[in-house]
Amino acid sequence: MGRPGYLTLPILSVLAAIGYVYYTTVFVAVARWLGLATAAGAANAAAFTALAAACVATYAVAVCRDPGRVPPSFAPDVEDAESPLHEIKRKGGDLRYCQKCGHYKPPRAHHCRACKRCVLKMDHHCIWINNCVGHENYKIFFIFVLYAVTACFYAMILIIGSAMYSVPVDEHSSNDSSRTSIIICGIILCPLTLALTVLFGWHIYLILQNKTTIEYHEGVRAMWLAEKGGNLYHHPYHLGVYENLISVLGPNIFCWLCPVSTNTGNGLRFRTSHDIPLSTPSM
Ligand SMILES: [Zn+2]
Ligand SMILES: [Zn+2]
Repeated sequence: MGRPGYLTLPILSVLAAIGYVYYTTVFVAVARWLGLATAAGAANAAAFTALAAACVATYAVAVCRDPGRVPPSFAPDVEDAESPLHEIKRKGGDLRYCQKCGHYKPPRAHHCRACKRCVLKMDHHCIWINNCVGHENYKIFFIFVLYAVTACFYAMILIIGSAMYSVPVDEHSSNDSSRTSIIICGIILCPLTLALTVLFGWHIYLILQNKTTIEYHEGVRAMWLAEKGGNLYHHPYHLGVYENLISVLGPNIFCWLCPVSTNTGNGLRFRTSHDIPLSTPSM
């Protein structure tokens, strides 16, 4: 496994798959079905090229951007540590401390064995980007998955259209090789589309609850422990659906699905449901 930011076999496989699907969709499927010289063909080719370029660009950022480091000056907020919200995250009542890195861990930070360091608001380590998905690259990772799902469905439509409606120009010409390319492309696209759609749905579910993948698994355990003790477990960072969306995708609703960096805090401290003032009765 290479260090984050390095080209690894899974990254090269992703780039090769994007390249192959792009080439076959535009230069075989669209060219056979609509023709690249027609208005419909050129428009579809241009739209798919833009989507593919957006995929590659957001993928490159997700691979290269640091997911978030704990600054050397970080000191835990003692008042914060007193909060019962963090009880569940502390072992034996101590502040969260990383023995391997030799520093305190901010809330939601975890030590990644693959990256060999602590990552702020760590979601998971992804081998397909050879990087952790954390506070700094979560949104761009999510936008990449969104673009990739859209591109997969778009490619499927063009491939199926080409397979069903293209008129064979000459039965004895090179149609066999283009048919083979289209079949291979379809075989790559089916599992890819399914996997990306499931991943996209999973992250929408997590964003709506303001959870990371790690927190989802911790929450399952915490809920079980709380139920055993006759209590109810609440995820401390769940602020309500709209606030959760803002805290992950940014304050501007029009930029939620755009690959722009967002002002979602420094990754060291997060608003919790206890920070939201409760409405008090006026009497
Ligand atoms: Zn660590
Ligand atoms: Zn990692």
